Order: sequence, then structure tokens, then C-alpha cells
Amino acid sequence: MRAHRYDSVMDPTLRDLYQLGVSRRELLAHAAALAAIPTLDRAATSMIAPAFRSDPFTMGVASGDPDHLGFVIWTRLAPEPFAAGGGMPPKAVEVRWEIAADESMSKVLARGTELATPQLGHSVHVEVEGLQADRWYYYRFRAGDAESPIGRARTLPAPDADAAQVTFAVTTCQNWEQGLYTAYEQMRRDAPDLVFHLGDYIYEYEAGRNGKVRTHHGGEIDSLEDYRMRHAQYRSDPLLQAMHASCPWFVTWDDHEFDNNCADRVSEQAGVDPRAFLTRRQNAYQAYYEAMPLRRRSLPRGPHLQLYRKASFGRLAEFFVLDGRQYRTNQPNNDRRSPINEAALDPRQTMLGAEQRAWLKQGLIGSRARWNVLAQQVMMGMVGVPSGDDPAPRYSMDQWPGYAGERMQLMQFLKDRRVPNPVVLTGDIHSNWCNELRVDDRRHDDPVIAAEFVATSLSSGGNGYDRHSGYDAMLAANPCVKFHNRQRGYLRCSVTKHSWTTDFVVMDQVEKPGGEATRRARLTLEAGSALVQSD
Ligand code: FE
Ligand code: CA
Repeated sequence: MRAHRYDSVMDPTLRDLYQLGVSRRELLAHAAALAAIPTLDRAATSMIAPAFRSDPFTMGVASGDPDHLGFVIWTRLAPEPFAAGGGMPPKAVEVRWEIAADESMSKVLARGTELATPQLGHSVHVEVEGLQADRWYYYRFRAGDAESPIGRARTLPAPDADAAQVTFAVTTCQNWEQGLYTAYEQMRRDAPDLVFHLGDYIYEYEAGRNGKVRTHHGGEIDSLEDYRMRHAQYRSDPLLQAMHASCPWFVTWDDHEFDNNCADRVSEQAGVDPRAFLTRRQNAYQAYYEAMPLRRRSLPRGPHLQLYRKASFGRLAEFFVLDGRQYRTNQPNNDRRSPINEAALDPRQTMLGAEQRAWLKQGLIGSRARWNVLAQQVMMGMVGVPSGDDPAPRYSMDQWPGYAGERMQLMQFLKDRRVPNPVVLTGDIHSNWCNELRVDDRRHDDPVIAAEFVATSLSSGGNGYDRHSGYDAMLAANPCVKFHNRQRGYLRCSVTKHSWTTDFVVMDQVEKPGGEATRRARLTLEAGSALVQSD
């Protein structure tokens, strides 16, 4: 009877655990862990004005998820980011915040107090509201007698506003060990309205695994403290901090925020206990929330975190930020490069999950925007490469070709519903790509439905190089590819009613300080056509 009672109130993952034969005692422990995530009520134990022996704002400040009324401002108190608890007392601490119209913070427009609690790693997420649409603002925090750096954020134009232009950067894959974040200096000079981070914000690997220029702390991360410290280490980079402080970001994750090539609750390694894997996922997701400027809707519930969401930049662009990891079915064909076979075309294969897919389609039908942008993780372009003596092209099963049925359906949907100007933004594969997407990219004469811009890694992989030896053969075999390059960098996009411009910004090197950024290519779209034009 008790079991029945738990079953009826249980969240779906708990129910799954129960069906896996997890004991009631373990289940209750798990439920208690979920309940430990605090509400935002004022705790009686708060310390109003702690005296910090060193600066608690070691991770800087950030803003994110803007709309036309406001945005999230974020910080995390950690005077000793690599000590247990970040060097904070195990108590809630009051943090004051201010929003101003000017950089010197003299015209304060709004202020308030928020609690930083030990349950959430003393992170602070303030959802500022009631601001004017389409304006830049400044913000800062105070805790005790310590003062944070000043950050800059902006609201979006009202959803029905006739916005003239938006500029944004697209970044992804910033392995700490493999390269420096010099590219963020150029990005800051570009002064974009927004940044999209498409995942692999951290890597979970142990120290030295990819060691080229600097080293992770500790082993492969697993516990909540491990994930917190890894985020703290990445966020200690002054160039990354400065970029976060300069404009709002929309972040989404890929696999390495948790575990390489994970799919829902399936590890890339065989034989991992699903219970241990879900506990690890809960740790990873909580630390991610704590580290990112996310709204309260993304507060984790055990091993669940609502990350997919959309934003309107007036009538100019609708951004759909997707989560291609949390809900996906396992990669088919043992995640090995394979032909697009029955397993990949199986209608049960899903990258998005039924709920997110329905939400996306609904949003696309309802969109009144000129450009409809899918900001997501893995490549949609179906790029086949031969393997050994076998001339039949093989495709990555971790990318959309492993979910080819759903991908083709989505393309068909964009075509049938005449969704205006769909554009896909992608990360993950540590190289630059521009692809023209069809329902089936192997049918070269079919109409092009959308353009895809794949951002290279910011640092992952080290310096890289421009072209590999198989470049010409790859292009000849895959006419959907319009551009490809394997250096480090990011995308700089500028969008008006009439045109879309993507600059592929690349670094000459990222393994030593002083790397130089250049524009390797500029590719454009005219509104009304998905055919990519090069300068
Ligand atoms: Fe990566
Ligand atoms: Ca990845």
C-alpha cells in the first residue's frame, strides 16, 4: 500500500527507479535530496552582513535569459572556490543587488535583496522585471562589505516591436585544458546584443586527460562538489568572466556538462548502474543551474532540469533554445558511424522527446518572426564519410543522422508549414560548417529548407588547422556543405529584416596568449531564400 502511495505521487524518474528495483529506503533518500533544494523563502539562519576575508565574487557576474521586461542577473559567492563549500559558512547569506541606467551606477532604477543559500552553492539568480524594452542596463551585487564587478545587460524589444537589427555571437566547447579563451576578447570587442552558448561549457574529464595548456583540478567529476568546483575553475577565467559581464547569454548544454555522449539516462560506458548514473546527473544538473544565469523555471528537480525555452527579439527573430541531451533515446548502432539504416530511421528514435518536439512545433506555428532560429547542440547536416575500403558513406549516430526519422519529419514540418526563414545554430563538433538542409540531404536535387551554421569550438582540440586532406572529397560527396574549417573561434551573426550575415571568426592559435582573431569567411542569406551565399 505504501508503495502504491509513493507510486502515485512520484515524479516519473522516481517511478522508473522504483521499477528498477530500488529499495524504499533509497527512494526516500533520493526524495529527501530533491526536497533539500530550497525555496526562496527567507531562512531564519541568514547572516546579514558576513565579513569576508577575501573577495567572494571570484566567479564574476552574469546575465541571461532576457525578455522585453527584464533578465536574470547572476553571481555565486565563493571566496575560496576550490575549498569545500566554496569557503562559505554553511548558512544563508543576504546579497543586495542594484540595476542602474548608467555604467557608474549613479542612477539606480531598481534594487533588492536575495538569499544565497548553501543548498544552491551560494548562487544568486535574480529575475529582474519591470524594465523598459530594448534598453541596456548595468547591475552589481553586494554581500557584507564586498562589492561585485559591474555587469551590463539588455532587455529585448517587445514581442510585437518592429526591431531593425540584432547581433549575437555563438560559442561552444571550451575545454579548459586544450586552449585559452582569447577568442572572447574579440567577441567582447564585437559588442553583440546576445551570446548563445550551445554546450560543452565544461568538460568532465580528469586532470591531464587533454592537457595541452592548463590542467583540470582533480579526477573525473562525479559528486556535486566536483561539478561545482569544475564550473568554478572554468569561470575563474577573466576573459570568460568579462564576456559574461558584457551582455546577456542564452545557455544550453550538450553532453560534457554531465558525461560524454550521454543520452537521457544511458551512459556511453556499458554496465554503468542507472541509479548511480542518475545520481551523478542530478549533481551535474544542479551545479549547472547554480553556475548559469537561468530563470527559476530551470531550478532542477532531482535529475530533471527544464532548459528548452524561447525568446522573441521583436518581430525580427524568434529563438528556440533546445535541449538535445536530456530527453533523447540512446544512439543507435552502438553510437558507431553507420549508414542511415532502419535503426536510425526508427520512429521511436528521438533527439528532443515528444514533449519538447510538440512544444517546438507549436512555437514554430505560432511564430510571427521573420527569422526562426533553432539554437541547439548537434549537427543536422547529413554529412557522410566513407570508412576504410567501404565506399558507402557513414554518419555520426550521436548527431541528427542517428535520429534521421525525427530530423526528416522536422524538416518536412518546416517546409509544409512554411515556417519563415528557419536557421539552425549548432555546436559540438569542434569545427566550422555551413550546410544547406533538405528533408534528406542525400537527395541533392530536393529543395533547400533551412540553413545551418555550426560554430567551431572556442578552445577544444587546441589550435586546429584550416583544411584537412580529405576536404575536397568530402565537399564533392556532400554538396549540402557550403563551408568547412577546423580552427578555433566562434560565430558572429548580424540579422536584419532583409538579410542574415554569419562571420566565421577564427583564431590563429589558442595554445599561447596573444592569439589573433580574423574573419575566415562571411556567409549570408537573403530573407525568403534558404540558399547560402558567400562573399
Ligand atoms: Fe565539445
Ligand atoms: Ca559535445
